[in-house]
Amino acid sequence: MAPLSSAQILSGLERILGPQGVLTGEAGDLEPYLTDQRRLYHGRALAVARPRSVAEVTELLAFCNAQHISVVPQGGNTGYCGGATPDESGRQILVSLSRLNRIRQVDPLNYSLVAEAGCVLARIQRAADEALRFFPLSLGSEGTCQLGGNLSTNAGGIHVLRYGMMRDLVLGLEVALADGRLLSSLGTLRKDNTGYDVKSLFLGAEGTLGIITAASLKLFPKLRAFATAFSAVAEPGAAVALLARVREASGDRVSSFELIPRIAVDLTTRHIPGVRDPLDARHPWYVLCELTSSRAADPLEDLLEQSLAGALEEKLVLDAAVARNERDRAAFWKLRETIPEAQRLDGGSLKHDICVPVAAIADFIERGARWVADNVPEGRLVAYGHVGDGNLHFNLNQAPGADRAAFLGREGPVKRAIHDLVADFGGSFSAEHGIGRLKVEELERYAAPVELDLMRALKHALDPNGILNPGKVLRPA
Ligand SMILES: Cc1cc2nc3c(=O)[nH]c(=O)nc-3n(C[C@H](O)[C@H](O)[C@H](O)COP(=O)(O)OP(=O)(O)OC[C@H]3O[C@@H](n4cnc5c(N)ncnc54)[C@H](O)[C@@H]3O)c2cc1C
Repeated sequence: MAPLSSAQILSGLERILGPQGVLTGEAGDLEPYLTDQRRLYHGRALAVARPRSVAEVTELLAFCNAQHISVVPQGGNTGYCGGATPDESGRQILVSLSRLNRIRQVDPLNYSLVAEAGCVLARIQRAADEALRFFPLSLGSEGTCQLGGNLSTNAGGIHVLRYGMMRDLVLGLEVALADGRLLSSLGTLRKDNTGYDVKSLFLGAEGTLGIITAASLKLFPKLRAFATAFSAVAEPGAAVALLARVREASGDRVSSFELIPRIAVDLTTRHIPGVRDPLDARHPWYVLCELTSSRAADPLEDLLEQSLAGALEEKLVLDAAVARNERDRAAFWKLRETIPEAQRLDGGSLKHDICVPVAAIADFIERGARWVADNVPEGRLVAYGHVGDGNLHFNLNQAPGADRAAFLGREGPVKRAIHDLVADFGGSFSAEHGIGRLKVEELERYAAPVELDLMRALKHALDPNGILNPGKVLRPA
């Protein structure tokens, strides 16, 4: 079969999606889709396809599969690993799910919600809230990222400690397969042991096994009581000990527990308007801890203050500020949520999204920090993150006066040393951001051979022509 010309492909797309559903770049309208969030990759695309219905997605895939045309699904394009960016060939079709964005059902009695892949996460949170329910996935990018991207990266965020990752929040999925068939598994059952859990294959698959078109999600009771504290600690080991103590003392009501180094307070107060240091004196490390409950009358503030008072007495905590109102709480969270943006504004950064067992965090940071100090004088460690999950963003920012290009040029050896250290701790080199294009080699290096074999077999079974996001997660066969 002779390959179709570009003009033939475009007319095929227009037949399926209508003229409004296909962007071809004539008006510079492709640009926003072609560069990833971190500006590591800049691709080209023959067109951007913007389906409005599930039928359009399946028809599009059937066409592309028959013609061996590669497709790259894209949601909010906030991913950190280049997974949603097309390659440089100019032959791929980028499939933007933004227009497939209906909330199909909110069922408060069943504690479930069904939404389409292009729904922005913040809209799903609001829809749950309006039904007096809570959808716990929460990320700094929630005003832009979309459900399909959250599902496909198995996103984490600030509530994993209590509610789990995206995978744990899914009841059912609807997925367009490479050959255009639709897997419709959108049930809202809590128990369903009927054979293999096929839908779970697509969670965290980064668009390489199918295009997710909708999902049914778990909801929880709406949160009505909050207690939030910003505490200083001498070192990460004290933060881990504090977490264990507050979990126990609060009846396990801790929903977030974030570790923040001094340098992140310096970066955010310098670069982000309105961010202030909540404490008077400077300290080496901080913890942002939040307790939540669905019962408005729960005395969370008392519980948190009692725990902190005991910890202050024992010098486990050096100082603490407890949020007295919603404004204080928002200010603490703004400091935490804007660390990535402050890092970006400060210069080049080398990022490592790693996970080690919670109990090993302090040891890991100590060994990692020593390595950075000895080996990367042109970088400064900015290690922060969801310490309650053992997940750190073990990042390096270029030091003042360092040459950006030279610093970024150290990426390979720095990454290797840090990921090898993570492996020594039995950890993961990709905690919540996925593999994308950025970490394909890392997966090859650290995954067990039998695991890689299974992944390749699955990819071949579900996408024999290799049209779905080729080169992401796995090297093309
Ligand atoms: C400020 C900031 C804070 C962040 N904080 C966190 C955090 O705390 N935790 C966290 O986990 N991540 C975080 N991220 C990363 C990012 O926001 C998440 O990975 C998010 O889940 C990606 O969603 P998206 O819609 O932007 O996906 P995109 O970037 O568009 O795509 C991500 C991947 O999913 C695939 N994909 C997208 N839609 C579909 C679909 N419908 N079907 C199949 N494949 C699809 C793409 O091909 C790509 O491989 C943060 C990012 C930013 C910018």
